[in-house]
Amino acid sequence: MSADRPHVLVEDGRSLVVEDDGERIGAGPWARWLASAVVPDESSARAQRGRTLARTGAVDSVTISAGAIAGRVTGSTGNRYDVSIQAAPVPARVWQDTVRSARSRPPLAPAVEGRVQSVHLAHLMSTEHRASLAPAAVEVRRSCTCPDGSFAGACKHVAAVAFAIADAIDREPSLFLRWRGCSPVTAPASRSRDPWEAGPLPEPRPIRSLPPGAVLKRLGRSGIRVAGVDLADALAPAYEAFAATRADGA
Ligand SMILES: [Zn+2]
Repeated sequence: MSADRPHVLVEDGRSLVVEDDGERIGAGPWARWLASAVVPDESSARAQRGRTLARTGAVDSVTISAGAIAGRVTGSTGNRYDVSIQAAPVPARVWQDTVRSARSRPPLAPAVEGRVQSVHLAHLMSTEHRASLAPAAVEVRRSCTCPDGSFAGACKHVAAVAFAIADAIDREPSLFLRWRGCSPVTAPASRSRDPWEAGPLPEPRPIRSLPPGAVLKRLGRSGIRVAGVDLADALAPAYEAFAATRADGA
């Protein structure tokens, strides 16, 4: 469907390990959508064995492309199995329209850039473009080369790959968009900088010292007479005294 080259998540032979040892794997909405669509019964014994495999580094050589996840799992007996998880990607046209709609909604920018797992982006896609960012479990095709691979649900190897990817999505949400065929939008260069950071300050102009009472001279006669003299003349000795004090103190 897409010309996108597969995104290599871990190189051949490198493991994708789940470090978190919580009850479930995958915390954010996109991670959860993938895990629950691929492993509909997360409390099953197969799912539990899949979690153990994902946590012990049994998943390796993982790639993600539009509509397809591929990975290899080393089973408890040491045999290696090839896993594939497929779901028809979001049509390119729908993603383009969704990105266009998101442009007028600045809070959605981090979502289309694949930086946050946004439920609002899925809502926008479903209400305005009638497509689902979250795949339905019935739309997901799972395959594994193990003897249990014909099982209608997820064998433990499929579960292991799904959990390893869900965990990776929590760290890198754009992986979910890639699987859904939604190329993450590149952030504009202007936004990659801290918006509160201004450019460099110009060099300060040298300070020109003015003679004492310069401001009085500039203002000229005040028209206010104090003790028979104009206020400006009355204040001049005060300015000179103040300037002298500042010079002494410097
Ligand atoms: Zn299997």
